Amino acid sequence: MSVVLVTGGSRGIGRAIVEEFVAEGYRVAFTYAGNVEAARALEERAAGYQADVRDFDRAQQVVKEVEAALGPIQVLVNNAGIRKDSALYNMDPAAWREVLDTNLTGVFNYTRVLIKDFLRRQGCVINVTSVSGIMGMSGQTNYSASKAGVIGFTKALAREVARFGVRVNAIAPGFIETDMTSSMDENTRKKLYSQIPLGQPGTAKQVARAAVYLASGDAAYITGQVLTMDGGLS
Ligand code: NAP
Repeated sequence: MSVVLVTGGSRGIGRAIVEEFVAEGYRVAFTYAGNVEAARALEERAAGYQADVRDFDRAQQVVKEVEAALGPIQVLVNNAGIRKDSALYNMDPAAWREVLDTNLTGVFNYTRVLIKDFLRRQGCVINVTSVSGIMGMSGQTNYSASKAGVIGFTKALAREVARFGVRVNAIAPGFIETDMTSSMDENTRKKLYSQIPLGQPGTAKQVARAAVYLASGDAAYITGQVLTMDGGLS
């Protein structure tokens, strides 16, 4: 059975992705930043690796260790991401760099490590971007720029590797209830949710089912796409 590596798989959307791939019978490995407790709770079902996605050398090590333990990785889900919101006039350059390094360079790091082998074995890449990268969100210039970058990366790489049978797609969720959204203040959250045409936030499981679909043979003719899941928001 295929092996999947999910970055940022210990909580939220990444965790749901890990759980759905496990339920489908895949062998699953995941990375996380520092929340050991959350990762432990998942480690009975999947192999956890503490690894900052910003660190390229660590990405090389993790891929080696996962493949030694589980076999060749066929599906990479680049999910790890953070937000550090503020109006641009107040934005700390460190918050700019941290968000770009995690959300965009993190995607580069793991994809760069795996892509050569994927060309040989027809692997599949799924990147978790955001509607913020499509429509832009006030107070999120760093986050929106990083997620728009992931969309450009997805489309460029899809063209580059399609002739090898490698597919590269992205999922752009809108508001999904996770720690990332629950950390917003109540008023902002209510205001944002009231703008969703379908009237409510989405679930991590819905995003995870889309990831399972994009990795499957049913999606064999889909590449270079951004699947928006935002209740109509964008
Ligand atoms: P979350 O609940 O905050 O979980 C983030 C996950 O990423 C955790 O497993 C965390 O590990 C890991 N992580 C964070 N920084 C990392 C780093 N430097 N290296 C490795 N792992 C790191 O976030 P979420 O809401 O599930 O979001 C997941 C993805 O979906 C992100 O890319 C986010 O931008 C995107 N997204 C979310 C929403 C939403 O509404 N929630 C909407 C659109 C897009 P620790 O547990 O160790 O911290």
